[in-house]
Amino acid sequence: MTDGWIPYGRQLVDDDDIAAVTTSLRSGWLTTGPAVDTFEAELSSVAGAPAVAVSSGTAALHAAYAAAGVGPETELVTTPMTFVATAAVACALGARVRFVDVDDRTLNLDPEAVGAACSSATRVVAPVDYAGHPADLEPLKAQAHAVGALLVEDASHSLGAEYRGRPIGAVADMTTFSFHPVKLITTGEGGAVATGNAELERTVRRFRTHGLVRDPDSHRMQGEGAWHQEVHELGLNYRLADPLAALGTSQLRKLSRFIDRRTELARRYHSNLASVEGIRLPITLEDVRHAWHLYPIRVLEGRRRHVFDFLRSKGIGVQVHYLPVHLHPVFSDMGYEKGSCPVAEQAYDELISLPLFPDLTDDLQDRVMEELRAGLRV
Ligand SMILES: *Cc1c(COP(=O)(O)O)cnc(C)c1O
Repeated sequence: MTDGWIPYGRQLVDDDDIAAVTTSLRSGWLTTGPAVDTFEAELSSVAGAPAVAVSSGTAALHAAYAAAGVGPETELVTTPMTFVATAAVACALGARVRFVDVDDRTLNLDPEAVGAACSSATRVVAPVDYAGHPADLEPLKAQAHAVGALLVEDASHSLGAEYRGRPIGAVADMTTFSFHPVKLITTGEGGAVATGNAELERTVRRFRTHGLVRDPDSHRMQGEGAWHQEVHELGLNYRLADPLAALGTSQLRKLSRFIDRRTELARRYHSNLASVEGIRLPITLEDVRHAWHLYPIRVLEGRRRHVFDFLRSKGIGVQVHYLPVHLHPVFSDMGYEKGSCPVAEQAYDELISLPLFPDLTDDLQDRVMEELRAGLRV
């Protein structure tokens, strides 16, 4: 931040992270080595279920959806308040996406509306823990299971969060994470799928490595030599390299410190902005622990654009999360219409994400709040 620009989010990489990557580079393993096993083991203890590391959050969605049977003639039910990947991956698999409107309090999927959108064609219900606030997972899972579908939670915002006292990763049938630099921890690029279902875990592991089957007992071609490996179902190369996994392990050890600082910053925003007129602050429901990936406020009375431009002109890198996915031109071209998710669309017109990251100082946060007040006054 030497140039004075305050981004909405960014990574915190320290000397211990750099040392961990250096050690990995000297180990002789660049991929499929012990650093990946260590990262998966530590991630499993945070997520409360076995975890498979992959090369991005998008790859994690792809592997999870494929394992759940998402494909042509099937549907995936999801939220428009997400990054485009949550829906795009289902389209890439040939499935039809059904966008369901969100709950105005949390901008997370409303389980009743999801139930109404589910059918025998539904393979996956894919909630997103918007901004780090866990979706209402138990009722969503019940709705998915009622039609024989799986709950695949896109937890790109919520590693380390909790739902009814259980870690995110231990509730849904499969949970996906992203380790992009703006997320809770980073591996540069990276992701993971957590699942307590051993069959799904095996399928995701095979998908990560071209679908290769190595165990001789499982081969359909018997009598081949020791060189032999064969493919039963197609996969891709979605492996996470060892130096990145080593960075992930080092970052994971600081996750609870990162979330504590994010929570403290959110508390400071709450207490200092509570009485400011013309905005609405995010809320936290009772049965969750929030991960505070984002701090999205609502700017009322049609003043969002003005306040956004004002803050940007003051060097504050605010952002808008998100353009509802069905409004992207590629989705309008497929026939999705404006007006179909009015709560999400109204939110989009009002949202601004304020800066929130672990090494944001109190002083800089105070500057953000001062400029926000100034922007609302003029
Ligand atoms: C970041 C993100 C993704 C994609 O993750 P990548 O690691 O960038 O591929 C998917 N869904 C949501 C909600 C995200 O925030």
